[in-house]
Amino acid sequence: MNEYDIAIIGAGPAGMTAALYAGRSKIRAVVIEAKGPGGQLLNTELIEDYPGFKSILGGDLAAVMLAQAEHFGAEIVYSPVTRVRVEADGMKVIETEAGEFRAPAVIVTAGGNPRKLDVPGEAEFAGRGVSYCAVCDGAFFQQLELAVVGGGDAAVEEAMFLTRYATKVTLIHRREQLRAQPILVEQARANPKIEFLLNTVVESIEGDAKVSHLQLRDTLTGEASRLDVGGVFIFVGFIPNTGLVATHVDHDAGGYYLTDPMTMMTNVPGIFAAGDVRAQLTRQITTAVGNATTATIAASKWLEERARGTEASAVKVLADAAVDGGWVA
Ligand code: NAP
Repeated sequence: MNEYDIAIIGAGPAGMTAALYAGRSKIRAVVIEAKGPGGQLLNTELIEDYPGFKSILGGDLAAVMLAQAEHFGAEIVYSPVTRVRVEADGMKVIETEAGEFRAPAVIVTAGGNPRKLDVPGEAEFAGRGVSYCAVCDGAFFQQLELAVVGGGDAAVEEAMFLTRYATKVTLIHRREQLRAQPILVEQARANPKIEFLLNTVVESIEGDAKVSHLQLRDTLTGEASRLDVGGVFIFVGFIPNTGLVATHVDHDAGGYYLTDPMTMMTNVPGIFAAGDVRAQLTRQITTAVGNATTATIAASKWLEERARGTEASAVKVLADAAVDGGWVA
């Protein structure tokens, strides 16, 4: 029988951190991952914002995180999770193509994916001029002209961020009106390095070894044009993988799980969340591993209390401990 204390869904940085902490605490935990370990690290060329590594390839960071988690006993099953259901006694059943796994506590670290533009060249040039993270990749684009696609808060904020490196940033949005908050738009308009190209769509991303230009179309006139850029940053939304749990989990309008900030527990007792599935200010590797640390320690505490009392008393103990200023762990 596949019985564990904690089931961790997803083996990105958050999942591997949860596995590390569970392993070192001698908790019976299983990590269930659909593809290879690493999550979005595998879509990231070079990482310079993870402490301890001046610079490391995304795939290499994934490999060392995996090796460390496995060293401390992480058990990883490679199979897509199809559903998580909660039984009447609170037990969680994780249905996968490799069979069912049962655990009273689940940490959802399933991440998500940036919404894609779905234009020719986007996949081909990913990591070679096409990026979905300005904080991660902006520094690789010094003294270049860049494009940002999107009209939401992320696009406008990240366009401003990129002006630290770029000589010029062209923000391309498909409509006249930007969706972003007016205050952000005002700040971006005041930035001499940002140019707005509205009512414009990207039809293709082109280049040779790296991106060199975009083919654009004006949505009002139908006119085609070409924009020479050294890179294009796409911010047209993010889709969290939060559709797996069959029970209702409180979430925000974007589908991100709402969690107790002290414990990372959702409204469903025993279901915790960490990393990009959580509603939070930012989506960085460092925040994902921080969330996962908290979630695993809280889940461990919750399991101890649940074993002593009931699920309800465990929830209360967790809430009380958090209000008291937390545990020293
Ligand atoms: P978003 O608000 O959903 O905006 C996505 C943008 O991409 C929209 O302008 C949308 O255009 C455009 N878009 C979508 N699909 C497209 C396509 N296929 N082609 C071209 N454009 C497309 O997403 P977000 O900016 O990532 O923000 C997500 C959430 O995080 C929001 O709630 C946002 O407020 C929040 N956030 C807040 C801050 C902040 O407060 N500082 C910073 C970042 C994010 P349309 O407008 O035409 O639909």
